[in-house]
Amino acid sequence: MAKWGMVIDITKCNACYSCFIACKDEYWDNDYPPYSAAQPRHGQFWMDLVKKERGVCPCVKVAYIPVLCMHCDNAPCVKAAKNRAVYKRPDGIVIIDPKKAVGQRQIVDACPYQAIFWNEEKQLPQKCTFCVQRLEQGKIPKCVQVCPSRALIFGDLADARTDVAKIVASRKTEALDPGRKAKPRVYYLGVPKLFIAGSVVYGDTDECAEGVSVTLTKQSTGKSTKTSTNNFGDFEFDGLGAGKYSVKFECNGYKGKTVAIDLKTDKYLGAVDLTKRR
Ligand code: SF4
Ligand code: SF4
Repeated sequence: MAKWGMVIDITKCNACYSCFIACKDEYWDNDYPPYSAAQPRHGQFWMDLVKKERGVCPCVKVAYIPVLCMHCDNAPCVKAAKNRAVYKRPDGIVIIDPKKAVGQRQIVDACPYQAIFWNEEKQLPQKCTFCVQRLEQGKIPKCVQVCPSRALIFGDLADARTDVAKIVASRKTEALDPGRKAKPRVYYLGVPKLFIAGSVVYGDTDECAEGVSVTLTKQSTGKSTKTSTNNFGDFEFDGLGAGKYSVKFECNGYKGKTVAIDLKTDKYLGAVDLTKRR
């Protein structure tokens, strides 16, 4: 028995919206009993893209996070449903029964990922089914099939030979919003975290300082990471958690400099001037 799951590599998503459109194409005006009723023309995004913007001008980073039903192992939607209207199959797919779920609006509110949509006309909660009707034909979900950058990887988590199983076993993935404790079966790579960035300038010439050694140290652990400035004098440390850090700048012929940062949101230091040694 397969245990279906998905890995989403956010760093590979280029926001082309092919997955979004493919999902609409598969489900709009198409019933797949007993798994799903037709998706309405407007207002439902079973595969959605959530824009995440970080930093402030002139240092802004944008990522798009594909979000769909996570087919949770501890699914709040299953618990919220009456009459077993939402159930988890042995292969891990969570299904909203399109007949039993009529009128059960509380199922929409139970999802911590806002992955369920209310169909006003049919009085029905609806969501992604991992394209179960396609899996039965030996196909993969439509969104995965059309993704041109392989940002969506789907397969059997129980089979150690599959890409999804290998990536999840590497322990580099994480759940979106893990505090929800729903045990999702959709795993993410490259979830945006905090960053520290800036530009180093030679104070005596006002030129960009290339090749300056920059060391980031987390004060609570003493753990350090090094990088060096590029030919524009720019540097960055990404993937950071909140906390206190120091950033040390070292360059031959110039005085060293250390900046202390209490990181709560992304931090752009602006221009960091180095003073020439006498
Ligand atoms: S993501 Fe939401 S709809 Fe999907 S299984 Fe989890 S709780 Fe249910
Ligand atoms: S198809 Fe792939 S690259 Fe395009 S928006 Fe969807 S996940 Fe991102």
